[in-house]
Amino acid sequence: MLQDLAVGRLENEFRNIAAESEDLILCFHQGQVLLRREADGTLTLPTLSQMAAGEKPAAPRYVFRMQDRNFFLWTDAAPAVPDGGFDYEAVRPLRQLKSKEVCYAIMTGWHLYNWYRTNRLCGCCGTPTEHDSKERMLRCPSCGNMIFPRISPAVIVAVTDGDRILLSKYAGRAYTHYALLAGYAEIGETIEQTVHREVMEEVGLRVKNLRYYKSQPWGVDGNVLMGFFCDVDGSDAIHIDENELSMAAWYSRDALPAHDDGISLTREMIRVFEEGKEPKSSGDCSF
Ligand SMILES: [Zn+2]
Repeated sequence: MLQDLAVGRLENEFRNIAAESEDLILCFHQGQVLLRREADGTLTLPTLSQMAAGEKPAAPRYVFRMQDRNFFLWTDAAPAVPDGGFDYEAVRPLRQLKSKEVCYAIMTGWHLYNWYRTNRLCGCCGTPTEHDSKERMLRCPSCGNMIFPRISPAVIVAVTDGDRILLSKYAGRAYTHYALLAGYAEIGETIEQTVHREVMEEVGLRVKNLRYYKSQPWGVDGNVLMGFFCDVDGSDAIHIDENELSMAAWYSRDALPAHDDGISLTREMIRVFEEGKEPKSSGDCSF
């Protein structure tokens, strides 16, 4: 999956440090990110020295460290495209397997960028917020309101019925591939209740025997996704919510129309089912 790095891990501990010339810069502008597409199609982010050539250097904000490189967020207004073959590309479609680490950095940086961008003013009193020097937090100097990064929990659900799995397609979205059922947790419910509610809302099925599989940070939407397998309980007749889905149907384990893309939790779960390796029981879980 996107977050499974070849070397090391994302080091997301807060640090209050200044950018140096060879540190990497995440520069976003109107849903796009500044990068260079190499001859072999791989993606490269600019360094501070490449960004600052011919421009007055800004004060980029440290966001995280990955594979022995520090990443900073460009906080000034987006600059003109620097020399060196760089250009702006849309963030949302960037899911390239051979530049997986760069895509993961962009998606995670995008999550933080949006959090900073939408919390410049205190939501309680409207005063401009200030950056805390010791942790990743914005603080209101007037009323003391403390604002931490917001992460929205959501579920990915593979409904199975023996050797069949329910696949669907979203309605009205740019993503047109097969998907599993998905939805956000709502206030006051447990994640297990989210699974039951989303499946009932989207395809009209009751489910049982929920088995947690894995989670995935999905910064492009500010989410952490939690993947579950579960069994249909009773009738297998599908009644789709046409506002959410364009189709949903049962597919046999040996004739699946979608395969692992090495990026998403959804596609890994489909592959795990195809291989017959999905968790079969909830073990010690009591839901
Ligand atoms: Zn305030």
